[in-house]
Amino acid sequence: MLTPEEKQRYARHFTLPELGETGQEKLKAGSVLCIGTGGLGSPAAMYLAAAGVGKIGLVDSDHVEPSNLQRQIIHGESWIGKPKLESAKHRLLEINPHIEVVTHDARFTAKNAREIAEPYDIIIDGTDNFPTRYLSNDLAYFTGKPNVYGSIFRFEGQVSVFAPHLGGPCYRCMLPNPPDPGTVPSCAEAGVLGVLPGIIGSLQAMEAIKLIAGIGTPPTGKLVHYDALNTTFRNFTLRKDPECILCGPNPSVTDLIDYDGFCGVPNTESMKEITVQELATALKQGLDGILVDVRTPEEWDAAKLDGTIHIPLQELPNRYSELPSDQKIYIHCKAGGRSAKACQFLEAQGYSDLTNVKGGIDAWRTLIDPTLPMA
Ligand SMILES: [Zn+2]
Repeated sequence: MLTPEEKQRYARHFTLPELGETGQEKLKAGSVLCIGTGGLGSPAAMYLAAAGVGKIGLVDSDHVEPSNLQRQIIHGESWIGKPKLESAKHRLLEINPHIEVVTHDARFTAKNAREIAEPYDIIIDGTDNFPTRYLSNDLAYFTGKPNVYGSIFRFEGQVSVFAPHLGGPCYRCMLPNPPDPGTVPSCAEAGVLGVLPGIIGSLQAMEAIKLIAGIGTPPTGKLVHYDALNTTFRNFTLRKDPECILCGPNPSVTDLIDYDGFCGVPNTESMKEITVQELATALKQGLDGILVDVRTPEEWDAAKLDGTIHIPLQELPNRYSELPSDQKIYIHCKAGGRSAKACQFLEAQGYSDLTNVKGGIDAWRTLIDPTLPMA
């Protein structure tokens, strides 16, 4: 099953008695879905590729930004402004052309999760955000696929494998529901030392490889905690909650749920959206409507797009009547979250032709005008 080139490539695996040629064949026949190609997904996918995991699926809808490169090592300087998926696929096949890389250009949601994950043996959650964490946990439970979890915060990281079908607990056994929106710092742009997701993402790759090859013991029922400042690894026991709302006998969660509202980002699926490239073209040709900026006065003072009307999001409930209801309204903010909220609010007030600018002024700076000052 392995070609002579592959046998040469994986020679160092063959001399491990636990793995050997049989284990390598299992890796070649194995498949992993990596959700996200960011800080955790980068090292995870790269080590899976190098190890010879036969099929690697990638889900991402972002573009490479200069501030990603400090930790998202799958992407390089020449890929700035381009889709992360293309960049990641290129890099993985450069590492190992003997594998298959499948790209899924989408946000991972309750609607598409089952279909995307269906062909894969294992899910790696490389996103480190609550909406995807709950979605991949629930998906793993409903489909009987192990979910390799990783998370980082400041100088600390965590790894576990959630696989109720293998006897362990699920994530909801610990935290039944996401904490209240706004109470969790990971939603904000928290700082991170780039090597930390490198370590945690590498541990995730290791667990996926162990599961596929059937070697060692996966950390089901165990939370591995890494403290970088004190250089300690500690294990915590995770117990199955007999009354778990997902994996217990009387579940209240019976299907996949989106927690998009969680970080204050509304579900944009039914919302009209425009990319910054499309907006730039439309502005050049004369915009068929008005462009509204809903950022704070401080952000507006630091940098603004020409010809925008400025109404901060928190003033919108008192000032929306300043906006014409018979014209197309394009709305932007810093990254697309607040403008999506503004679209939802205006829609509820009876405005019908609303378009959210995807990625906001940050995307504009990355893709259109790098001279625009940072707010
Ligand atoms: Zn559970």
